[in-house]
Amino acid sequence: MEYDVLIIGGGIAGMESAINLGDAGYKVLLVEKEPSIGGKMILLSKVFPTLDCASCISTPKMAETAHHPNITTMTYAEVMEVRKDGNGFSARILKKPKYVNESACTGCQECERACPVNVEHDEFNFDLVGRKAVYIPFPQAIPKVAVVDIDNCILCGACERACPADAIDFTQEPEELDVNVRSVIVATGFRLFPAERKPQYGFGKFKNVINAMQMDRLLAPTRPFNTVLRPSDGKEAENIAYVLCTGSRDRTVGNPLCSQICCMYSIKQAQLILGALPLADVTLYYMDIRAYGKGYEEFFKQTRDMGVQFVKGRVAKIEELENGNLILRYEDIENGGRVQEAEHDMVVLSVGLLPTPEVASIFKGEKLELDDYYYVKQVDEDLSPARTSIEGVFVAGTAYGPKDIPDTILSAGAASAEAIAYMETTRRQK
Ligand SMILES: Cc1cc2nc3c(=O)[nH]c(=O)nc-3n(C[C@H](O)[C@H](O)[C@H](O)COP(=O)(O)OP(=O)(O)OC[C@H]3O[C@@H](n4cnc5c(N)ncnc54)[C@H](O)[C@@H]3O)c2cc1C
Ligand code: SF4
Ligand code: SF4
Repeated sequence: MEYDVLIIGGGIAGMESAINLGDAGYKVLLVEKEPSIGGKMILLSKVFPTLDCASCISTPKMAETAHHPNITTMTYAEVMEVRKDGNGFSARILKKPKYVNESACTGCQECERACPVNVEHDEFNFDLVGRKAVYIPFPQAIPKVAVVDIDNCILCGACERACPADAIDFTQEPEELDVNVRSVIVATGFRLFPAERKPQYGFGKFKNVINAMQMDRLLAPTRPFNTVLRPSDGKEAENIAYVLCTGSRDRTVGNPLCSQICCMYSIKQAQLILGALPLADVTLYYMDIRAYGKGYEEFFKQTRDMGVQFVKGRVAKIEELENGNLILRYEDIENGGRVQEAEHDMVVLSVGLLPTPEVASIFKGEKLELDDYYYVKQVDEDLSPARTSIEGVFVAGTAYGPKDIPDTILSAGAASAEAIAYMETTRRQK
């Protein structure tokens, strides 16, 4: 199979690059390892500073990607190997079995309702709720096709019997495909900092300590409950604390980088909480507020004027009381650096971003270099930010460093323009 460009990763960076290239007439193969495209953005509540609904603005991009005549989208698939071949590349892709016939499935969810197996771990709700062993990843998934989690399936056949489209197919096998392309864009995004790596904050141990991605899910239009509930007892939270820079600017966990977005998404969530729970108090414990983008400083000041408390101080430790409330011990920098304690009924850890360095191992022969922080290395950061160590391979979005959505979109523009320039130059050299 021949395409012009292979894009690895179907988040907003990958989708935007694909649409740019598709609109310019190039044939694109977009490979996403999850069962749906959309990346993290489709799972968010609203976006700062405009407070536009994240799913309302990402769903059209997802639909455009999936239905574009020049874009082939492959979900639940992994790129196993990419090798330079002259000016182009050969790639091997593994398509994992969904055990569901994609063209027959209508997304009706009858299989989910029939399945007797409850799985505690729902990756798309960041484990706030469970799911079934056969499931549609989330309501706006594209493709809206069920997938069987074969590790938890007990092969009872209930989904097969319930499916009106006869789409369940346990005979599916993994499929390997070889493709040739002229250029590659790496858009593998970021990982969330695992908050367990700061054991002094009790994530995973204290039920009412959650991470910010979980809070974004609690505030999203497709939220699992219809309000912001404390996980320990299902009560509406009344006094919520945010601990900014969790796992960012922190050499003790090996991540000295500022994650660029945590200040702003915490401020955004604080505003949304005031809307969802008008009587709640919200306090942000921060080191510095980095509101660097257009309109961001105004958004920060507006949030402060709405009554959100900002306390400058590094939180050293969190302890749990018997009623599930939490005691935060922090250094109160603006009051002489004294150690203070405060009680809250829920704590949100504003976790930072980590790289996806595994992508480097896909490239055989010529090496895809990583930078000192294990993000994809930009060989010309100043003048050609999308170029990598392999000629013809470009990088977009958070795969080369933390960034918000507007900067991710810009970087996708740069990567697609560079890919076009590379393809046209090498075509002329033939
Ligand atoms: C809690 C939280 C709130 C946020 N709120 C905002 C906000 O309000 N406004 C804002 O501007 N930004 C916000 N952001 C940042 C925003 O999420 C990112 O800027 C954006 O999602 C980056 O997009 P991306 O495509 O680079 O990465 P991702 O969204 O991570 O997408 C990468 C995709 O690549 C796939 N992938 C990875 N490896 C492979 C592989 N080997 N093969 C195939 N596929 C692969 C992944 O499954 C994923 O779908 C927030 C982030 C967090 C964590
Ligand atoms: S066969 Fe598996 S996925 Fe289908 S209903 Fe039974 S347990 Fe669920
Ligand atoms: S597999 Fe069948 S029952 Fe499940 S969503 Fe698809 S069509 Fe509906």
